[in-house]
Amino acid sequence: MELKITCIPGDGIGPEIVREAKKVLNKVAEVYGHEMNFTDILMGGASIDVHGVPLTDEAIATAKAADAVLMGSIGGNTSTSPWYKLPPQNRPEAGLLKIRKALNLFANLRPAILYEELAGACPLKEEISSKGFDMMIMRELTGGLYFGARKTEEVDGVLKATDTLTYDENEIRRIAIKGFDIAMKRNKKVTSVDKANVLDSSRLWRKVVEEVAKDYPEVSYEHMLVDNCAMQLVKDPSQFDVILTENMFGDILSDEASMVTGSIGMLASASLNDTKFGLYEPSHGSAPDIAGMNIANPIATILSASMMLRYSFDLDKEADAIDAAVKQVLKDGFRTGDIMSEGCTKVSCSEMGDLLAERIQ
Ligand code: NAD
Repeated sequence: MELKITCIPGDGIGPEIVREAKKVLNKVAEVYGHEMNFTDILMGGASIDVHGVPLTDEAIATAKAADAVLMGSIGGNTSTSPWYKLPPQNRPEAGLLKIRKALNLFANLRPAILYEELAGACPLKEEISSKGFDMMIMRELTGGLYFGARKTEEVDGVLKATDTLTYDENEIRRIAIKGFDIAMKRNKKVTSVDKANVLDSSRLWRKVVEEVAKDYPEVSYEHMLVDNCAMQLVKDPSQFDVILTENMFGDILSDEASMVTGSIGMLASASLNDTKFGLYEPSHGSAPDIAGMNIANPIATILSASMMLRYSFDLDKEADAIDAAVKQVLKDGFRTGDIMSEGCTKVSCSEMGDLLAERIQ
């Protein structure tokens, strides 16, 4: 199979971690008989330096012509980089907002996995962390409170601010379908999170999720109130498979779930539209403090590439091979500096890429 992939190396450690992801994908292609066809585009500070803008229309067209986009990270040191003296619409992050909009990416996926070998980094009590966890947070990305009408006005001499939370049934249905589809590729359990005891938008969310669930008889599902979910994530994260939720709840819960893994360099993510197309990137930023030093952890980006194979190309076996290589490399005691612990062997970013590529079977 030919895989047409647009890569955005970006800024900071971005080019280093994307290089390692390509190394691993090329090894997958060699072992499983595929052809990787990579095209790089500039985005963020790297594009500002060349074109004066964080993302050009040509770059968007290149991304659209691919089957999927694999990104490193964009942005610089927000206090010292000249990119942050530019007006907000010309700064690196504006490129990210522009590409998400242009590609109609409405579903955000963030896995939170506790690897046995990294359990020491988990801030939860051992009796909880020893059960391990492997969950996927599916967050609606383009609706809800962050995109509703808002205003600040003075009423009778008092300042008053209003934000609006709106969802229509179509927006809820398309994300719910994605959530159940993802559950079918995992442990077939969906926890739909809302605040239906208070909010109308949540009551509609619940109704639509129940309708969609009828088409997935193999998937078990439950509803959970968001406040309870926040508690359950630290009390017993092992109970979750797919957490399906709206924009703001997902924003908060996905950060909470990431924190309980304790390892920022291991966290992948994806943003999908209503076809198989997706943009895949690590959850962390461009780490300008360690850029160019060949010490960044490339695993989050490599796991994002694994998600790309699974969700955009339906290459589950190949994705499993990458996930297994990550587990094996940890078991074999190799660590980049950010996840280093006593008794392990410290390796560079490129050595980690080599070790993972060697373990693709
Ligand atoms: P960051 O995630 O880049 O870094 C936070 C800390 O984690 C730093 O100490 C960094 O060295 C470390 N770190 C991050 N990723 C690592 C990795 N793979 N291996 C080893 N250590 C790693 O967050 P920040 O410092 O707040 O942001 C830096 C820049 O990244 C900013 O310009 C910010 O806007 C941008 N950013 C971009 C994205 C994105 O492209 N989606 C996301 C978040 C932040």
